[in-house]
Amino acid sequence: MEHYEAIVIGGGSAGLAAAIALGRSRRTVLVIDEGKPRNAAAQHAHNILGNEGINPLDFLSRGRQEAMNYGVQIIEGAVDQLGGSMETGFSVTMSGQAFSADRIVLATGLVDDLPPIPGLARAWGDTAVHCAYCHGWEVRDQEILVLGIGPMSTHQAMMFSQLSPSITFINHTPAALNDENRATLAALEIPVIEQAVQAIDFDAQGNLDSVTLADGRKVNAQALVVAGQMNAQASLYLSLGGQLAENPLGTFIQVNEMGATALPGVYAAGNASNLGAMVMAAAASGTVAGAAINADLLGSRLAKAPAPAKP
Ligand SMILES: Cc1cc2nc3c(=O)[nH]c(=O)nc-3n(C[C@H](O)[C@H](O)[C@H](O)COP(=O)(O)OP(=O)(O)OC[C@H]3O[C@@H](n4cnc5c(N)ncnc54)[C@H](O)[C@@H]3O)c2cc1C
Repeated sequence: MEHYEAIVIGGGSAGLAAAIALGRSRRTVLVIDEGKPRNAAAQHAHNILGNEGINPLDFLSRGRQEAMNYGVQIIEGAVDQLGGSMETGFSVTMSGQAFSADRIVLATGLVDDLPPIPGLARAWGDTAVHCAYCHGWEVRDQEILVLGIGPMSTHQAMMFSQLSPSITFINHTPAALNDENRATLAALEIPVIEQAVQAIDFDAQGNLDSVTLADGRKVNAQALVVAGQMNAQASLYLSLGGQLAENPLGTFIQVNEMGATALPGVYAAGNASNLGAMVMAAAASGTVAGAAINADLLGSRLAKAPAPAKP
């Protein structure tokens, strides 16, 4: 079984940044990545300092090359089992191949759990968006419909009201709006339609055209704003005995400021531990986790070193 000082599970911006910090510290590092980054549906990534508007997959391809330049090994595939502990060493299994490691980084991202509205998946990442910082500028001044499906929907309407004067809130899931939310929308002069959305419609060219409401009425739209529940991809952490934390956005792996989880030797970074982290924040947390593991491994080495002879 091939042994590494660190195995990074997930090769998005968080995992690659962790791997680069470790590779540059001359650690033996393996990244195992299934290759499904969360923003793959988008053509451009924004708020990426020095790489503004870059295609998300090109960005990661550059990151992979940078990691490999420091000796990091990268293989494609999904880790299906993670076992062991810091004392015994960790075992990582991927399609029957087994590896061992002293430390683990979980950089597996999150899943956007979207409502099952026909057409939504097709528009996702293009004209159906979730984040004002990722796509807001691109939909500025457009006719924007906010799908009210959860506690974050009013917040989204508020954020996008900074970008377009034409915002309508569709109360798709009535539980999404409490009295306080209604007061916020009223204060921002955002009209509310009390109907569920039945389907999302596209014109002959394939562009978003409108939504069809439950009563058959159509409402024109150039952009939809929707935020599903966000849940960290954390089954491997759970299988080690870890527990998930929860906030209004969804469930995630709790870490300290260095990326360490409650399980010794297991670190987490990016969306797996911070549901709101954009690309730069995800990468930053990966760098911190990689640096923390390097220090952690140095500490272990010192702890095992023979005590100096007394003079
Ligand atoms: C549509 C959309 C557009 C966005 N646009 C922007 C933007 O413009 N700017 C911005 O800053 N942010 C944007 N974001 C947010 C951005 O996607 C995240 O900040 C970023 O992807 C988080 O990086 P990550 O490394 O934590 O996770 P990810 O990028 O999701 O990477 C996780 C990786 O882990 C892999 N993985 C998961 N489980 C396993 C496993 N068991 N074994 C092996 N590999 C596994 C996945 O396949 C994936 O490759 C956008 C998000 C969405 C949904």
